[in-house]
Amino acid sequence: MRCFFCQYNSAPSFKDIENLGKFLTARKKIVGRERSNVCAKHQRKLTKELKYARFLGLLPYVSYQGIK
Ligand SMILES: [Zn+2]
Repeated sequence: MRCFFCQYNSAPSFKDIENLGKFLTARKKIVGRERSNVCAKHQRKLTKELKYARFLGLLPYVSYQGIK
C-alpha cells in the first residue's frame, strides 16, 4: 500500500486527531515508518504534528487503556 497521505493527497495536521490516531500504537506511541507505510516526507511531518497535538493536550503521551 502507498503512503496514506500521498494516497489521499493530504498532509498530516494536528487538528486531524482521528487520522493521527491511526499512527499511534495501543500505548499511544508513534508507529514506525516500516509499519505505517508513510513516506519519509509525510512521516517527518506526521511526527511533528503528533507532538504538537500532544503539546496541546489533544492526544495523550502514553495510555494503558485497553491494555490487558
Ligand atoms: Zn506521503
